[in-house]
Amino acid sequence: MKILVINAGSSSLKYQLIDMDTQLVVAKGLAERIGMDTGKLTHKYGRDCEEKFVVDTCFKDHTSAIQLVLEALVDKDHGVIADVKEIGAVGHRVLHGGDKFTASCIVDDACKKAIRDCFPLGPLHNPANLQGILACEAVMPGTPQVAVFDTAFHQTMPPEAYMYGIPMEYYKKYAIRRYGFHGTSHRFVSGRAIEILKANGKKADKIVICHLGNGSSLSAVVNGKCVDTSMGLTPLEGVLMGTRSGSLDPAVVECIANNEHMTVTETLNVLNKKSGLLGISGASSDMRDVNKAAEEGNKDAQLALDMWAYGIRKYIGAYAAAMGGIDALIFTAGIGENDAAGRAKVCEGLSFLGIEIDEAKNKVRGEEACISKDGAPVQVWVIPTNEELAIALDTLALTEGK
Ligand code: AMP
Repeated sequence: MKILVINAGSSSLKYQLIDMDTQLVVAKGLAERIGMDTGKLTHKYGRDCEEKFVVDTCFKDHTSAIQLVLEALVDKDHGVIADVKEIGAVGHRVLHGGDKFTASCIVDDACKKAIRDCFPLGPLHNPANLQGILACEAVMPGTPQVAVFDTAFHQTMPPEAYMYGIPMEYYKKYAIRRYGFHGTSHRFVSGRAIEILKANGKKADKIVICHLGNGSSLSAVVNGKCVDTSMGLTPLEGVLMGTRSGSLDPAVVECIANNEHMTVTETLNVLNKKSGLLGISGASSDMRDVNKAAEEGNKDAQLALDMWAYGIRKYIGAYAAAMGGIDALIFTAGIGENDAAGRAKVCEGLSFLGIEIDEAKNKVRGEEACISKDGAPVQVWVIPTNEELAIALDTLALTEGK
């Protein structure tokens, strides 16, 4: 069976067609500038999706974007399937499931209503995610669809981890609490970690997952269940990221807003889009560029790297304390999988917890590998994440036989 995985944004739509027999991506692409005068579809296919087919067009809405994606998938020169009916189901990434979704679910009227009910919690993403779902319903009626929520894995957190110390009425009236994000990745990677560690005869009860990419988050996972995570009501909370500040004193918002004559929304935009590695280094939000700038002597870039690693190290310590110990530490996502120096820096000084990285083993990039010293008490691993495959696997599990 083939499953189409969709990640719909407000003006773009990413997709992957995955063959579930081989678990390989047979085609993937991006529809950009939906709803604008000019749009573009970039469709990739063939071995390792290295062939490219680009269409310049105008997407009136998400429905016309999905329509063109399906046309590309069956195109006689660039397509990968003979008929759209070969797509057995569609899996959608949905940002916010609030406290309504603890797992993925088949899209029905109740599911769509619940996604709508979460609009206030994910005002930029949830409406776009729902548009993606409605577009697929319109263009491929009868094909089962599944919604996979970025927040669902974190719903096992206990109240002491998810509540903020604000008046209870705001939680009751507005559902203001920590939700956490990247849940599909944390679930996929922690599940794989438990499998690997057990197969190697190692303990896997208490794990910290470091999802370190452009957006970054950590989670504490006890017996396969999330007990704490670093992102909060929105993805702004937690560690320093590519363009996000991560946690800070909320009074900073008022201070910036007053001094710069900005609204709260404008200030939050700065904290989301112009801060983090970019804001501190002044060079870039991309870790590779920041590394390069630091190597070339840019002191602010070096400070950004120091802040990045220090903040992550503090979370690891906090989660070890929260879990009463740590059996394994896992690195994943763009930086976590590829940046050996970044991983080493994060783990500096953590030997008191039993975390010791082996320099030679740590040279690994983008593949599953143990990087801790032989005999170190804590297993440290690199485990590549694959959110699209995780979405496809959930979609398959929920739709098989339907
Ligand atoms: P993601 O959001 O998971 O796609 O990760 C994107 C981040 O991974 C960017 O900051 C990239 O600079 C970073 N990244 C990718 N490859 C490398 C690498 N070889 N070394 C350091 N950072 C990398």
